[in-house]
Amino acid sequence: MAVAHTDLRVETGIGTLETRSPATGEVIGTVPIFGEKEVAAAVARARDAAAQWGALSHAERRVHLIAWRRELARRADELAELIHRENGKPRTDAMAEVMVALAVLHHATERAARALRTRTVSPGLMFGQRARISYHPFGVVAVIGPWNYPAFTPMGSSASALAAGNTVVFKPSELTPLVGCFLAETAAAAIPIADVFQAVTGDGRTGQALARAAVDKIAFTGSTTTGRKVMQAAAERITPVVLELGGKDPLIVAPDADVDRAAEAAVWGALTNAGQACVSIERVYVASELHDRFVDVVVREVRKLRTGAGDDAQIGPITRPEQVGVIREHLEDALKKGARVLVGGPDGIDGAFVPPTVLVGVTDEMKIMREETFGPVLPILRVESVDEALRRSNATAFGLGSAVFAREGARQIADRLRAGATAINSVLTYAFIPSLPFGGVGDSGFGRVHGDEGLREFSRVKATTEEWLRLPFSATTFKVPANAYAQLRGLVQQVFGGGVVDRVRGALARLTPR
Ligand code: NAP
Repeated sequence: MAVAHTDLRVETGIGTLETRSPATGEVIGTVPIFGEKEVAAAVARARDAAAQWGALSHAERRVHLIAWRRELARRADELAELIHRENGKPRTDAMAEVMVALAVLHHATERAARALRTRTVSPGLMFGQRARISYHPFGVVAVIGPWNYPAFTPMGSSASALAAGNTVVFKPSELTPLVGCFLAETAAAAIPIADVFQAVTGDGRTGQALARAAVDKIAFTGSTTTGRKVMQAAAERITPVVLELGGKDPLIVAPDADVDRAAEAAVWGALTNAGQACVSIERVYVASELHDRFVDVVVREVRKLRTGAGDDAQIGPITRPEQVGVIREHLEDALKKGARVLVGGPDGIDGAFVPPTVLVGVTDEMKIMREETFGPVLPILRVESVDEALRRSNATAFGLGSAVFAREGARQIADRLRAGATAINSVLTYAFIPSLPFGGVGDSGFGRVHGDEGLREFSRVKATTEEWLRLPFSATTFKVPANAYAQLRGLVQQVFGGGVVDRVRGALARLTPR
């Protein structure tokens, strides 16, 4: 049944957009395309709402955000069904997405008061001063989201932004606008202040208008190519941005790893959501001595998987039609340069359905090992040492997630991976733990969502000093004693140059348990 979206507060926009099932091509619904004028109006409404929302205490906002969470939980089947229909992922995966989206909302709601409480810090040499750090809402946050986790990814940014006292204007992907509308509808039903969370539907033009609008912060999740454009647009108003971009996440399997567990995890990490996760395992570096066993288990497990649109399918369609071309191109490039297909392959591509594919004999020169494939593909490369695996892992411009399977020295390997996150003896887990900060380095972006870092990311940090003790001298007047130079010099020696204060501080540091 098609859905005409009438709840959005826009009469016409600059046209309409049809959303279709990626599996069947069936039209699911129609939404307006918000142009510049409509986006500006939504931002103005969000600005009005921010005056009220931002003035509430954490405890008051918590009540409203709990109401939203419960409303979403009450209508979880509807949300999962919309995710399933617009994105194409199996219903069970869609419900898992609802669960993790609610987990990040729950965490931000419960954590905000503590993570954003005003803190007193050492005044250093400014004797007599009290030094405080406080956190305040920016105002209006623009959230621009992708289609691959259409509820979870925007919720990652929005939950932190809202709990920190901002209002949100959310631009969902043109492929999943109804999921965005559903989030806005449920927020409106649960939160008594209007326009705290709005959706502005449309295409790239809508996203561009939002990135240029008079918002106070932009949280963008999407490709590196679009991320660059958003950063350029944001530069016009010096709007701060968080960029959650693509990845090419490596998995290292060390010589002492539990090879069967590593192989099973690699299969899930590479193929869940049909490989359309920013943190998908996109390449595997396996120690030479485990290589053959690893490949055998991977192939065995991949052969068991069911691809399709039915309820028993584990691998759904590719949501974005153009992505099928990218996946095909990466596979053909690899085959041309000498890789071998063990399961699947480009010949099995059928419309939006790409068969889960395992490749060996790959090299780092192939696109499949350097560029984001975003499909159900698992390329495996044999390495002679952990150092070689690390060197190869760190050789792309991306740095989002990563994983290592090892018994000894796993933490040291993890620390040497240039990435925003590493899972040891598991895959992708960091993305689903709401108390951990999430984000990348390099071409994978910067800034963090989730965790206390996420809440602070959406807060204006304020430093305040306050005199609590009036001293006989003041560092901030021109009334300095005649021997000021000598006194300052003495202070420098005592505090930093090995004098009494410096030595006492050193002794205290040595006594402090680590
Ligand atoms: P995308 O094409 O970059 O689009 C992302 C969003 O930006 C969409 O809402 C899109 O709207 C909008 N947009 C397009 N052009 C724009 C412009 N000029 N200015 C502002 N916004 C614009 O990415 P996608 O294909 O939807 O998502 C897949 C990518 O997201 C992958 O690279 C994946 O790795 C990444 N991703 C990253 C994370 C993370 O947390 N790091 C999480 C999930 C996904 P339209 O769709 O309407 O064009």
